[in-house]
Amino acid sequence: MPTAQILTIGDELLSGDTVNTNLAYLGERCRRLGFEVVRALSVRDRIPEIVAAVADVSVDLCLVSGGLGPTSDDLTAEAVALAAGVPLVRDAASEAAIAAVFAGFGRPMPDINRKQADLPAGCDVLPNPVGTAPGFAASLPRGSYVACMPGVPREMKKMMVEQIEPRLRRRFALPDIPRRVYRLIGRGESAVAVEVEPILAAARARSPGLAAVYLHYRAATPQVLLILEALAGEGGARATEEELRSFDAPLQAALRGSLYGIGEAELEVRVLAACRRAGLTLATAESCTGGQVAGRLTAVAGASDVFAGGVVAYANSVKTGILGVREDSLAAHGAVSEPVAREMAEGARRALGADLAVAITGVAGPGGGTPEKPVGTVDFAVADAETCTHKRVQCGATGRSSSTRRGSWPSSWCGT
Ligand code: ATP
Ligand code: MG
Repeated sequence: MPTAQILTIGDELLSGDTVNTNLAYLGERCRRLGFEVVRALSVRDRIPEIVAAVADVSVDLCLVSGGLGPTSDDLTAEAVALAAGVPLVRDAASEAAIAAVFAGFGRPMPDINRKQADLPAGCDVLPNPVGTAPGFAASLPRGSYVACMPGVPREMKKMMVEQIEPRLRRRFALPDIPRRVYRLIGRGESAVAVEVEPILAAARARSPGLAAVYLHYRAATPQVLLILEALAGEGGARATEEELRSFDAPLQAALRGSLYGIGEAELEVRVLAACRRAGLTLATAESCTGGQVAGRLTAVAGASDVFAGGVVAYANSVKTGILGVREDSLAAHGAVSEPVAREMAEGARRALGADLAVAITGVAGPGGGTPEKPVGTVDFAVADAETCTHKRVQCGATGRSSSTRRGSWPSSWCGT
């Protein structure tokens, strides 16, 4: 298995101003490509520190993010040129591309941006279609391959997936690693494991390819992802895509009621797609989640044809004034109750002119719980033209700290 190092550059990563999400992303991409990430390093925007981190590379691949900007603290190209023992040279095509970005904004290109076209001589230039800083890849004197990307996460991801990964697949002759993602909601990690482990053990005993299937769990409250990856086993045997699919039926049977999908698409993408297929529009009425559900839905490109909008009905006056929740319901049952959840959903449908509406009202804590409605009690309702369905869920006293796992719902999703 080829080895990799991930180097993230920027003062802001060490001062705590920026959470190093690029490291998590690149780590996952490396693993999925078949690299073993043996080291991750963050350094400041200082030439000697970057040179040392790059020159010391004893791995097959060094992925670098950050420091490709136009300002005096963006030093990656210069440092990599020093480590590679080559001069910096201005790349005319990159300079023209940067000028074109500014022309697109109708602004003259500041002179300092030309610096972004100064790249190590002989490198493989990676154009940046969504920003000004081109990336680049080069071989280092000790034989490892270094690929440098912008720090801006959106630009980095696009460059990694579209330009660097194809190069890595060719250069390192990386095989495809079949994988299958099972998406679960409403069941804890250990309850899932109890069902899954025997199925996997039986399959492993059945075939040499399946013996090397690697199973990992990703608990991202309230979801659990179950990921099967076909690693190479003894003699290089590796399960095929087809063999991984053979887990679908037994897992569907064992995890009925909590398995909501198979594949890479996230929950919100599936919700929107299901509405789109059914020709329905969707609205939200959120109290405890404060708009986070609407935020997740609107983060999906193209959500606007399905998602009508949302109301953050935090105060009771908003529940009554905008969503038409009855004062009586609030007085008799409280804001976290079945009647209020139902009236919120029906009110959101009306107010936002949608076919479907989902309402969420709950007790987030840390205070505010009662013996009947402890912290973590959440009432959900979904209304369409004819019916309104309610469900109460006990999410537990998860508190308000938000999860740092990428792609997860913050644990405060079930807050007040
Ligand atoms: P470039 O212009 O090449 O992107 P740069 O990454 O040095 O250069 P910065 O201005 O330092 O540019 O960073 C751009 C943005 O990307 C900043 O908001 C920064 O916080 C963010 N960023 C940089 N590195 C990371 C990282 N490792 N993880 C998450 N965000 C990052
Ligand atoms: Mg920087």
